[in-house]
Amino acid sequence: MAFWKGTWLHRLPNTPEGIRVVVDRLAGAGFDMLIPCVKQPSGIADYPSKLARIHPPFQGIDALGICAEESNRAGLAVHGWICVFPEGKDSALLAAHPEYTAQPGPERPRGEAVHGLACPNRPEVQDYEAGLYRELMDCPIAGVSLDYIRYVDGTCYCDYCREDYRRQTGGDLHKLGFFEWNPAAAQDMDVWIAWRCEVINRFVRRIRAMTREHGKELSASVFHYHPNGLQDIGQDWEYWVREGLVDYIWPMNYSCSTLIASKWARNNIASLAGSASGCRLHEGIHRPRAMSTDRWIRHVAAILETGVEGIVIFDYPNLTDDDLKALARLGR
Ligand SMILES: [Zn+2]
Repeated sequence: MAFWKGTWLHRLPNTPEGIRVVVDRLAGAGFDMLIPCVKQPSGIADYPSKLARIHPPFQGIDALGICAEESNRAGLAVHGWICVFPEGKDSALLAAHPEYTAQPGPERPRGEAVHGLACPNRPEVQDYEAGLYRELMDCPIAGVSLDYIRYVDGTCYCDYCREDYRRQTGGDLHKLGFFEWNPAAAQDMDVWIAWRCEVINRFVRRIRAMTREHGKELSASVFHYHPNGLQDIGQDWEYWVREGLVDYIWPMNYSCSTLIASKWARNNIASLAGSASGCRLHEGIHRPRAMSTDRWIRHVAAILETGVEGIVIFDYPNLTDDDLKALARLGR
C-alpha cells in the first residue's frame, strides 16, 4: 500500500554534514517530509531568530536553511516546527515580561505561576509567537508547523483572561466550578469552551493568513482524542480542518497498543468525514525503542488499514535502518 511518510526531529544536527546525513537517509527511504523543531518548549530557538534567544550550538549556523536547501535538492519537504505557547527557562518573552506568564485556576494559590507557559490569550504573546513564524517565512522550507497549539495544565486564569471573559460573556472565570462538576456552573460550560477555543483559533487563523501570503503550507500536531480536547486544552482541530486553516493535521496517536491506536485512527477519520477542505490526515505514531522492528511495522500496518493517508513518526532518532527498509517494503 502506498502511503505518505513524515518524521518529527526534535533537534537538527548543527553541522552541514550532519544535516545532509539525515536528509539523504530519509529521502533514500522514500520519506515525504521532515519536521525539525526550531523553537523548543523552553523558548529557545534553533534557527537564526532575532526575537528569541538562540541555542548556543546553533549560533552562527542556519541549520534550518541548510536543511531546507538539502531537502529541496533531495525531494524531501520540510516544515519548520514551533512549540507555540510554552515559554520556559530560556524565554526572551517572559524574561522581559514576566507578567505574561500563564496563571493556574482558582483551585491553586493565586500567584503560583505556571512556569514555562505564556498566556495564550494575551495579544502581546500572540504577536511574539506570530513573529517567530514570520521569521520562518523567509526560509526556503515548504511550510511551518503548529505544536502546543493549545492550553496547558488547566490554564489560564490571569487577570487579563478574567477581564476578557467577563467582557465577552458576563461570567466570572474564577467561579465556573467545572472541576467540581457544580451543576449550576455547568450550564455555562459551552460558553467557556467556545471562549477558550476561540483564543487558539484566532492564532491559527493568523498563521494561516501568513502562510497563504507567503506561499507556505501549514500543519498542526494535535491531541488525538477529539472532541475532548475542546474542554481539556481549548483545541478544536476539527474546526481548523473544516475551515481550511491547515493543510495537514497530525493527531498524536501514541498508544503502544495496536488495538487502541487503530481505534483512535478510525475515530479521527470519522471526525473529519465530509470535510472538503483538502486537508490531509496523517496519524502521529510513536516509535518506542523497546519495540522490535517487526512488531512496530505490524502496528503501523494496522493503523494504515483504517484508511489514513499516512503517518508521522515520533521521532527520527528512534528510526533504525531496519525500520526504514521495512517501511519502504510496506509502501510498495
Ligand atoms: Zn491569561
